[in-house]
Amino acid sequence: MQKAPIPADEVQRLASLHQYRLLDTPRELEYDRVSHIASQLCLTPFALVSLIDEDRQWVKSSHGIDVDYIPRDLSFCAHTINQQGPLIIENMRTDTRFWDHPSVIGNPNVSFYAGVPLRSSEGYAIGSLCVIDQKPRQLTSEQHTALKALADQVALLMELHRTNNNLRVAQAEAEALAHQKAQLLATLSHEIRTPLHALEGYTQLLLEQPTHPDQQSSLQRIQTTGRTLVSLVNNILDYSKLQAGKLLLEAIPFSVAELIQQAVDMQAWQARQKKLQLTTKLDATIPQQLRGDATRLLQVLINLISNALKFTKEGGVSVEATVVERTDADVTVLINVIDTGIGIPAESLATLFNEYTQVSAATTRQYGGTGLGLAITRQLIDLMNSRMEVTSEVGKGSCFGFRLTLPTVDLTPPTVDWRTAGKLLAVDDSPFNTKMLVHAILQQGGQVDAFNDPVVALDAARQTPYLSMLLDLHMPELDGYELAGELRSIQPDTPIIALSADDSIETLEKVRTSGFDGFLRKPFLPQQLMHLLDELIKPAQGMARGSA
Ligand code: ADP
Repeated sequence: MQKAPIPADEVQRLASLHQYRLLDTPRELEYDRVSHIASQLCLTPFALVSLIDEDRQWVKSSHGIDVDYIPRDLSFCAHTINQQGPLIIENMRTDTRFWDHPSVIGNPNVSFYAGVPLRSSEGYAIGSLCVIDQKPRQLTSEQHTALKALADQVALLMELHRTNNNLRVAQAEAEALAHQKAQLLATLSHEIRTPLHALEGYTQLLLEQPTHPDQQSSLQRIQTTGRTLVSLVNNILDYSKLQAGKLLLEAIPFSVAELIQQAVDMQAWQARQKKLQLTTKLDATIPQQLRGDATRLLQVLINLISNALKFTKEGGVSVEATVVERTDADVTVLINVIDTGIGIPAESLATLFNEYTQVSAATTRQYGGTGLGLAITRQLIDLMNSRMEVTSEVGKGSCFGFRLTLPTVDLTPPTVDWRTAGKLLAVDDSPFNTKMLVHAILQQGGQVDAFNDPVVALDAARQTPYLSMLLDLHMPELDGYELAGELRSIQPDTPIIALSADDSIETLEKVRTSGFDGFLRKPFLPQQLMHLLDELIKPAQGMARGSA
């Protein structure tokens, strides 16, 4: 028996073979089909698709015979890869190279062999497609041609396999990189946002105290500057979340009218400075409460209103909201932000919502900005199942709008007025956060016991029945999840709300499975907290728990 010689290009051939990452992979239907068809076409009982590595003929697929690999020294296909074209042996027993081969003189008694080399895209013979019979025979020229064509198909299949593998690897790498980037941005933004919120909170506290008019306007200036910074940081953070498909929307009751008013109030100072009118026109038939993501909608409104003010020199900006459709379950509201500003040329409208797009370089010089605002706005509105609409005329002004369909909130059964019915419990390890929380609740006329130490809060919960408990999630000693479990065993019927700046999918899932009744993303608007409490605190509390 003659062993197959090692091909002259063996090193390159093996390198080419290994690039396919096909060795030792499981069976696959596509390859099995090829060996099946090959044996049917050539009318042979056996067919194999194999790869030849350093020391084996490894079988990717076989028909009629069950074999994983054959030692290279005993492999017929190892001879085939030395051929330019097919290797055909019509009768093994009369061929001096093979007549004493163990598979010829014994089981499975190979008599006829026809193999076609499988070539890699670099041109190396890395394997073979072969058919085998137990009696001597010949192939017709049609069978010959068909076998070669099938071998070409296998080569294509392998190529596809390799491309897919490479894409998968590239995708995994890109995802890992995007994840790292998002993580870094999240950490950075958190680090920047925390002091900014302290700034915002303390300024608000000072503004609510009697101050000298001069101080009042300085404080407002600090507040506006701080808010601009917060929205800039939020935009960058959200952009990275949107890119990673990790931005989730909340569905919490809120008031559209209040929200628009809030967005306008936040920009009023900017309007006053530029001596622009900033007005609202709100349809009185918009339901009191709709369910949606108030903070994201506020962000959209702020982006649109601040752009409108930025690109307007004379006249003003009007925010209008109209009900355009109403069903039993939901309401569609059209919200438009209309300005009398510089307008946008028709040819720029199509790319306006792309990242980093500014209508002209002169715009950047004159007005600043990152070009991210509208890209984020569009993606947020897309997430809300709507579409940004814009009309504009150069020199006359622009109108940016969208239609939002939001579920109405059933205000029956009657809710309890938590402001007068009892006390709330608030736990956050940050004294600043508890201070802000207490302030917001007191301002609404409610009562609250607030603690920085979860263990002290547990003691309090053993003494006092609470209407609802608000828990920060990340606390060093006892985290919000553990605390919720313990509180739940003390006051099983009290709704528990999680508060966290981390609204990643993982966190929301953990919150859902840890027995919380609600989640509020920090920083939240006072109205979001109020509406959530309205919803969760039920009159029958103590007998049956509200919707969990
Ligand atoms: P930024 O304002 O940070 O540059 P945006 O994505 O918010 O980024 O806006 C992109 C560009 O769209 C702006 O630079 C400006 O050229 C144009 N634009 C946006 N809103 C208006 C508007 N109301 N009037 C005129 N141009 C606008």
